[in-house]
Amino acid sequence: MKSQEHMTKHDKMKRVSDELLEFKASPLYEYRTSNGYFPVIGEGSLDAKIMFVGEAPGKTEAKTGKPFCGAAGKFLTVLLESINLTREKVYITNIVKDRPPENRDPTPEEIAVYSPFLDRQVQIIQPLVIVTLGRHSMGYVMQRYDLDLELQPISKIHGHSFETVYFDEANTPQPLTIVTLYHPAAALYNGGMRDTLKKDFEVLKKFI
Ligand code: URA
Repeated sequence: MKSQEHMTKHDKMKRVSDELLEFKASPLYEYRTSNGYFPVIGEGSLDAKIMFVGEAPGKTEAKTGKPFCGAAGKFLTVLLESINLTREKVYITNIVKDRPPENRDPTPEEIAVYSPFLDRQVQIIQPLVIVTLGRHSMGYVMQRYDLDLELQPISKIHGHSFETVYFDEANTPQPLTIVTLYHPAAALYNGGMRDTLKKDFEVLKKFI
């Protein structure tokens, strides 16, 4: 096995992906395999400046292994295009990499077992910005990157940005901005939310 320092970003992400495929300790592993689902690792550029973090895959995502490819994902693509971004230029993933049954919210236990994989993905990609989609993602990411004291209900802090740091693989602090957005699924049945998300997305223009 290659030592970590000689591995490319691609090698490192492949290792994350291989471990997730075999992640039998997960409470969602049995549900995944008995339904013929895939884990959803993430998609996009490993050199992305902006990383989007959703909650957990839905059925369409688990069937294909691709993040945000159902109805909410289509709206995410529209939002990206509204600020001249494409899915290829960013990296899109979730905290929980396997589909929870019945589209329920991820449990604290599921977030705890999958989040170390997300932390590694952040170290591999080294983004300047993490955009959280929805309150679970916001809660985890803000606490993980020492913004607990800034945490408020998403209705209060959607569209905000917060400055913090993450520690890279050499344990050196690197600047990181966290932007907290509503989940695009929230806009599917609520036209007002659609406009709010479009407006909040403009915050990202300065990072492109
Ligand atoms: N919702 C999410 O949070 N993630 C997906 O990948 C799809 C829907």
